[in-house]
Amino acid sequence: MNSNRPIRVRFAPSPTGALHIGGVRTALYNYLFARRHGGAFILRIEDTDSQRFVPGAEAYIMESLRWCGIHIDEGVEEGGPHAPYRQSERKAIYKEYALRLVASGDAYYAFDTPEELNALRAEAEGKGETFSYNYAVRDRLATSLRLSPDEVQQRIERGDQYVIRFRMPENEEVHMHDLIRGDVRMNTATLDDKVLYKSADELPTYHLANIVDDHLMEISHVIRGEEWLPSLPLHYLLYRAFGWTDTQPEFAHLPLLLKPTGQGKLSKRDGDKLGFPVFPLQWTAPDGEVSRGYREDGYFPEAFINMLALLGWNPGTEQEIFSMEELIAAFSLDRVSKSGARFQPEKARWFNAQYMHRKSDEEVGRLYRKIMSEHGIEVEKALSERIGSLIKERATFPSDFWELSFYFFMAPESYDEKNVRKFWKGDTPRHIAELRDMLAALPVFDMETVDREIHAWVERMGYPIGPIMNAFRLAVVGACKGPGMFDICEIVGQRECVERIDRALERLGNGDDKKED
Ligand code: GLU
Repeated sequence: MNSNRPIRVRFAPSPTGALHIGGVRTALYNYLFARRHGGAFILRIEDTDSQRFVPGAEAYIMESLRWCGIHIDEGVEEGGPHAPYRQSERKAIYKEYALRLVASGDAYYAFDTPEELNALRAEAEGKGETFSYNYAVRDRLATSLRLSPDEVQQRIERGDQYVIRFRMPENEEVHMHDLIRGDVRMNTATLDDKVLYKSADELPTYHLANIVDDHLMEISHVIRGEEWLPSLPLHYLLYRAFGWTDTQPEFAHLPLLLKPTGQGKLSKRDGDKLGFPVFPLQWTAPDGEVSRGYREDGYFPEAFINMLALLGWNPGTEQEIFSMEELIAAFSLDRVSKSGARFQPEKARWFNAQYMHRKSDEEVGRLYRKIMSEHGIEVEKALSERIGSLIKERATFPSDFWELSFYFFMAPESYDEKNVRKFWKGDTPRHIAELRDMLAALPVFDMETVDREIHAWVERMGYPIGPIMNAFRLAVVGACKGPGMFDICEIVGQRECVERIDRALERLGNGDDKKED
């Protein structure tokens, strides 16, 4: 590699549907690499396959990157020195390059009709073979390798449809280098003559457009999914045919994201089956099918990114929690693994919980107000921050807040049966009735006072504090869970606490009617 070369990388998705989390990881690694080396991160939309184009997919990709905090330096919306960045708008560029390869003998015209190709496939199948458009057949088919230049010219002029195919060398060992996998060799004997350009829609195929654009956009490193590794020999040979070998980018092919079982590629079906999203944002397909997204499921973008970064890369230390800045500082391609990375939904949740626990009072308050408001309760700022910070340690998602704290705003409708059996028995209900009167008589009801007075009272009376506090909590909260009871008392308030004890005594019995069990 020319080490003085400016670092320029691109994320080059095809807008054929929602962006899979594997695609987000590719974008992320490109972004981290660019930022790490002070380079540029480019978004190029590869939309030359009109058959697979899905409306809304491009906007979805851009919104996903925005949500993830992946900033684009040059792209469809941002513009840049090599605009346009949408391949369909660069249509005029590619034909000239395809023709250059025809002129140099590295590519040729092929006039076979779909019917003719189908017949060739059927014939091969009949012999138990698979048809391959390659060195073995190209000289005897309707190609510019067999037809005379005049005939080719005539056919083009009269409007016959054609494709331009790459003339794959018959038997050459291509030596390639991958920054993750090291040296890779492949013989061209097994490769076919890929179509580079189609006259029917005047569009290039992926291979041609991709190589031409990487060259014109001065891409220094191509970092992409492993599924593109089989295309690498063709790409090397295209660079050579164009005479661009000196400036061809370096390549890094990222490992696959595997199913939670470790067997096979992670698919949308795994997500549906095991209940986790495989898309960053919710996606509505053209047929109306809705797929869940990390954002809508309550994941924080920072947690999602942190989790993805570690799926296939490791920092070489025990550190697991990384901000984007820390990832940029630590990232390097030589710590990307060759083998597939197993996706673990519980690890994704773990990361979210870690980020939840680290939220500032202000952030958690904001999230808290939003969730409670969805449940019809408007909570003022100071209180939202207080409750939020009390319960965040127990939450994984903001949606957990309601279950963890509704009792601050309404009396429990029911009491956890197991805890009732365990704590609402023997002398305890009677003690709780006495506690009620003691609490009702307190002149102030802040947490320090309640704490001090309850302790003084049990000591005076010679009562055991454990069962009393558990039963008290059961009466106020409905279950034996939640943050410190004195915080709860202060927030719920004196009158409400007393009323809830009355309610519990009424519903669960006050001890008079029950024998100790
Ligand atoms: N358009 C290709 C894709 O959808 C890009 C592959 C590459 O990065 O070369 O993945």
